[in-house]
Amino acid sequence: MTTTSGGEFDSLRIENVGRRFGGTTALQGFDLTVQRGEFIALLGPSGCGKSTALNCLAGLLPLTDGQIRVGEQRIDLLPPEKRDFGMVFQSYALFPHLTVAKNVAFGLQMRGVGRSETTRRVTEALRLVRLEDQATKLPGQLSGGQQQRVAIARAIVIEPRVVLMDEPLSNLDAKLRLEMRTEIRRLHQTLGLTTIYVTHDQEEALSLADRLVVLRLGQVQQIGTPQELHDGPANWHVADFMGYRNLIDATVSAERAAADGEGRVRVAAEDMELLGTAVNTVAAGDEVRVAVRPTDLLVQRSDHAGPTAANTIQAEVEVVEYQGREYAVEVRTPGGRALHVRSEHAPEVGSTVLLTVEPSRALVYQRDLDAVAPAEHADAVAS
Ligand code: ATP
Repeated sequence: MTTTSGGEFDSLRIENVGRRFGGTTALQGFDLTVQRGEFIALLGPSGCGKSTALNCLAGLLPLTDGQIRVGEQRIDLLPPEKRDFGMVFQSYALFPHLTVAKNVAFGLQMRGVGRSETTRRVTEALRLVRLEDQATKLPGQLSGGQQQRVAIARAIVIEPRVVLMDEPLSNLDAKLRLEMRTEIRRLHQTLGLTTIYVTHDQEEALSLADRLVVLRLGQVQQIGTPQELHDGPANWHVADFMGYRNLIDATVSAERAAADGEGRVRVAAEDMELLGTAVNTVAAGDEVRVAVRPTDLLVQRSDHAGPTAANTIQAEVEVVEYQGREYAVEVRTPGGRALHVRSEHAPEVGSTVLLTVEPSRALVYQRDLDAVAPAEHADAVAS
């Protein structure tokens, strides 16, 4: 179990997969090709269809549309146990009355693997998750993080073609969650197992995955590498999810001739004018939403309350929070808008500051998401 395992196949192909529950469409038109050995994160807010997608892959839910293939084999009609997938749940789902070793051995016994081979593979799996000295304990005698390691060992011991993980770190406290994140990354680097990982935590997804799939209302919004999603969200919804905390509603005042080919547009809100970069096609008069990350708003002291210069917003400091290396600051514009910024220094509460943003870091999106076909984004960004 020290090299890529899980049988021969090139890719897992999810083709136009959909799932309805009565009148509710939980997942629609889901298309994704996962290369063998890839780590994919399915990301999105509660109710976006992440678990539905994972349960369709696991065989716990039949599809109402589409197909799933592993290599040339169609698997969506197979029962879960015939798919050769390992599953890790948020709730660990261990057998409380079986020891750690017996929990891990369970899947092998179900597959009729012999006793000595089972012992060898269980020992190896427990070594990989660093639990070799806990083999005879019961799950109730372990910490949450250790129990989740047992669940991971149980999933990988069968040398699955694909590992499916459904929010595996959600029940752990902040410190353990970080430790287990590193552990999962390390295991993936060691074993190269094809992994599909569901989370609502963008930081977790960005740090673990080779590619991210962002879902909203059962539809794929964007597929891309962590850097592609971090730097170039395809619509404001994805931007919101990727930490662009400042979403400013504005109207396109004029399109600047894009001589530089960078799609610069001028937008105006009640209390500010900005030069930004259009991500979607926009025209003068369009209602847009400008997305700016807190780290992209440069904070400067202002001793005068004069008119604001280009791409500079005047605001008053309301809340300052110390966050280790920097301060998270909430400010309010004269128009009453709250903005979130980062600052190396602690500005004084009640003081006036000037915020400046580079036009390339003020992303201008069509406000009406329905005016932008989600599939366009998926295709545009998928590699
Ligand atoms: P969470 O993070 O809260 O688990 P999710 O992104 O995993 O959310 P799903 O659980 O896949 O979302 O749900 C997607 C949609 O399908 C939701 O509107 C949900 O209410 C609906 N849904 C899910 N399971 C069922 C079911 N068994 N019966 C009816 N509707 C369901």
